[in-house]
Amino acid sequence: MKQRPYTRRRSPKKAYEGYSKRELEKVLDSVFSVFIRLRVANGDGYVKCFTCGAIMLWTKAQCGHYWSRINRSLRWDEENCQVQCMRCNIYMHGNYPKFGIELVRKYGVGILERLDIKSSNVSRMKNFELEVLILNYAALIESMDKGDVLPRMYKNWRNHGTKKSRKQKKIGEEN
Ligand SMILES: [Zn+2]
Repeated sequence: MKQRPYTRRRSPKKAYEGYSKRELEKVLDSVFSVFIRLRVANGDGYVKCFTCGAIMLWTKAQCGHYWSRINRSLRWDEENCQVQCMRCNIYMHGNYPKFGIELVRKYGVGILERLDIKSSNVSRMKNFELEVLILNYAALIESMDKGDVLPRMYKNWRNHGTKKSRKQKKIGEEN
């Protein structure tokens, strides 16, 4: 059997605290989505779809993006992201015409241009920057005092980090 000329070296997939950039982005997505929904929830946890006005529990709502999530510089933008029902976000593909109208109504004329400018920024977020954002939004959610609402993905990530740092601490103590 012919041997391969070289063994392809694996890129370090797990970069930060055992999490790759892709994984950290997913953790941030989950925390950010909770933040976007809870920031407009009333005392009973109900939110209004930004584009059609439907009322639903925040857990049934979604975090809709005006500029799609593919655009990293607007993926976690607090203006670009608004609460949507599943119908608007998924079946109506974001309900863009209405999304634009409502953005102007909420933030004033110039918002669409502002987002357009931001969209052409190249986002080269490092893993530690993603981590800072995750912790920032988790802290904001906790400050809302809505009970145990942090997503499981976030908790897993935190536990992982805690376990590791605990281990490191223990090793440090032995020396
Ligand atoms: Zn809707």
